[in-house]
Amino acid sequence: MNNLKVVVIGAGIGGLTAGIALSQAGYEVEVYDRVQELRPVGAGISLWSNGVKVLNRLGLGAEMAKIGGKMERMEYRTKTGELLNNITLSPLIHTVGQRPYPVARRDLQTMLLAAFPSEVKLGHKCIGVEEDGKGVTAIFENGHKAQGDLVVAADGIRSILRTHVLGQQIEPKYGGYTNWNGLVPADAALAPKDCWIIYVGDHKRVSMMPIAGDRFYFFFDVPLPKGTPANPETYKAELKEHFQGWAAPVQSLIELFDPNEVARPEIHDVGPIDRYVKGRVALLGDSAHATCPDMGQGGCQAMEDAWVLTQYLMTTNLGVEYALKRYEMERTERANAVVQKARKRAEQIHGKDPAITQEWYSQLAVEKPTDVTDAITKVIMAGPLR
Ligand code: FAD
Repeated sequence: MNNLKVVVIGAGIGGLTAGIALSQAGYEVEVYDRVQELRPVGAGISLWSNGVKVLNRLGLGAEMAKIGGKMERMEYRTKTGELLNNITLSPLIHTVGQRPYPVARRDLQTMLLAAFPSEVKLGHKCIGVEEDGKGVTAIFENGHKAQGDLVVAADGIRSILRTHVLGQQIEPKYGGYTNWNGLVPADAALAPKDCWIIYVGDHKRVSMMPIAGDRFYFFFDVPLPKGTPANPETYKAELKEHFQGWAAPVQSLIELFDPNEVARPEIHDVGPIDRYVKGRVALLGDSAHATCPDMGQGGCQAMEDAWVLTQYLMTTNLGVEYALKRYEMERTERANAVVQKARKRAEQIHGKDPAITQEWYSQLAVEKPTDVTDAITKVIMAGPLR
């Protein structure tokens, strides 16, 4: 189809990638966000090769390579630092044809904003949509109305447009743990600079991975009751307590980070839900399938959504609603499987059943490194871009 006007709600990874892909397809695209200033939530993200391949197809491969960290290996270590497994990523990179990139969220956002050919319309909170025979109109709290042939609802995990699509409100589910994440200068005393290092023990996890600018993106995971009070002033003291007795680099990391620059989300997911589309409104990204970050796939799935949605619109002449249904059929199967797998992995890592977590620790010590890369490869290759 030609000459479509698309209204995108939300300028996160999903909304911006969709905005770029749809603009490149020749459509008129308006992207709206409720915030006055776009600031990424969280410090870093690992973009696995399926996400990077979407960026490649959008002409952003070279930019991505500049801002992405050169991660050659993964190391799993016990909480006291003994090596459990050393996993080279080269078999994965060779099989899938693209290296993964850990990246600072701010760098990724800057890249996506620069690639989107118009200005994002900030300070526009969408409060609903109305459809008539001719199209669909997004309605904003400030009185503005935006009419288009379709609305892409990329409004995140607490999406209000999800309620419109499903006809009922769905509350995100708590994944059982809290995550602290941030950036620190890279230092070989913390971790090798080509390596994603992960310390595991007591159902907790500490991770550091290299990103551009000689920095590490780090995170700590701790299973905690939902609603545990958070205050940057006490982050260091809390983490020192949670990780007492862990290896020296973990202690150094706690000393080093700036608590005022650390994000502390409680991890939630959504779904699986079986509807991503109603009429001319399509959910995309976390609004459809917020995912526990234990496979590093939530943002990658949002990018896949953006690519698939654009392809269906471009390649049919049977109308917008038809294209969106085809999008829904393909994406519910793929993204819902990832949501379920990531939740299972979150439970395995964070001690929902302590025996299963213990079994995982034992398995890590004996597993063939290629079993680990094969499992990640399988997830990547199930995406739309081979
Ligand atoms: P969001 O980024 O939430 O964007 C939604 C946008 O919509 C926001 O800008 C918001 O302001 C706007 N909005 C909301 N409501 C309205 C409204 N009513 N009107 C207008 N605008 C509105 N994914 C990976 O691929 N790899 C990783 O390594 C990874 N690590 C993660 C680590 C953590 C700790 C977490 C929490 C997530 C991680 N993810 C990862 C998941 C990834 O961050 C998300 O899947 C991704 O950011 C979702 O993007 P989105 O655009 O769908 O939603």
